[in-house]
Amino acid sequence: MSKVMKKVKTIKIDLEKCNGCRACELICSAYHAEPKYSSNNPARSRIRMIREPLQDVYLPVYAGEYTPAECMGRDKYVIDGKEYEECAFCRASCPSRDAFKEPDSGLPLKCDMCEDEEVPLCVKWCIHDALTYEEREEEVEEEVMVEEIETGLKSLVDKYGFENLVDTVARLSQKEK
Ligand code: SF4
Ligand code: SF4
Repeated sequence: MSKVMKKVKTIKIDLEKCNGCRACELICSAYHAEPKYSSNNPARSRIRMIREPLQDVYLPVYAGEYTPAECMGRDKYVIDGKEYEECAFCRASCPSRDAFKEPDSGLPLKCDMCEDEEVPLCVKWCIHDALTYEEREEEVEEEVMVEEIETGLKSLVDKYGFENLVDTVARLSQKEK
């Protein structure tokens, strides 16, 4: 199997510095609105705040992979005496909850690191420096990339059915010609 270089982008989260202002949610949803910056609905954000002010819990979580089935069990963390809600640290777009789903279509949302932006916008907008951006190069098996494409396609098949997906791809490929 051939190896390829992949850029690994990381956002480090410092929970001590986050005060739950939700600026990150606002800018993420505005950046991904159609057209760009036409609305700012946090339900469309790829970063979601878990906020429990009475417990001093402010936890930004990034949207990760889509999963068609929820876990059989649950996890719960207690850190420095603070209890986080079940699945709080999980990044999955999962049937057990509303997080990380496009509110109109129900399609899964996933953080794309703001595509072509040099620095992710949630990092830029966090004036409390709770989010820090880092990147590095790593050698990976080519198959890892194929797996990512397969996961995305599977979520569309689950949502719209195989036939509809094939028709849409055929239509798009005609347009490209
Ligand atoms: S912008 Fe920064 S401080 Fe505000 S909620 Fe997001 S991570 Fe926390
Ligand atoms: S990196 Fe970009 S896409 Fe990801 S959560 Fe931040 S603003 Fe949204």
